Amino acid sequence: MSSCERRTRLTRSLRRTQHASTARHLRNCNKPLPPASTEARICSYECTFCAKCVDAILFNVCPNCGGGFVPRPVRPSTNWKNGNYLGKDPASTTVKHRPVDPASHNQFAMPIKDIPPHQR
Ligand SMILES: [Zn+2]
Ligand SMILES: [Zn+2]
Repeated sequence: MSSCERRTRLTRSLRRTQHASTARHLRNCNKPLPPASTEARICSYECTFCAKCVDAILFNVCPNCGGGFVPRPVRPSTNWKNGNYLGKDPASTTVKHRPVDPASHNQFAMPIKDIPPHQR
């Protein structure tokens, strides 16, 4: 197993624990974000949202950790090296669009959103 694969598995189980309690869906967005999507945005914990929600609803504040977002890299569909690609390591089928209540997120994000993400 390569270190890259190990890391992927570790973050997957972390993600499950962290987000088990977050269960409501955004009413206005259930956008699918397949591995090839260029609209996916992630925080440092890999919480994933679509670009539109990050801009319009989250104000670039992650509802789970308060950090900023960057574009999610696209996982290669070609086996370039050691089987580290979509065919062998398919994207998780769990919903990654983390549900957020816009009203309570507003309260959470207001004091944070004007601080540049690298200074939070
Ligand atoms: Zn969205
Ligand atoms: Zn986060």
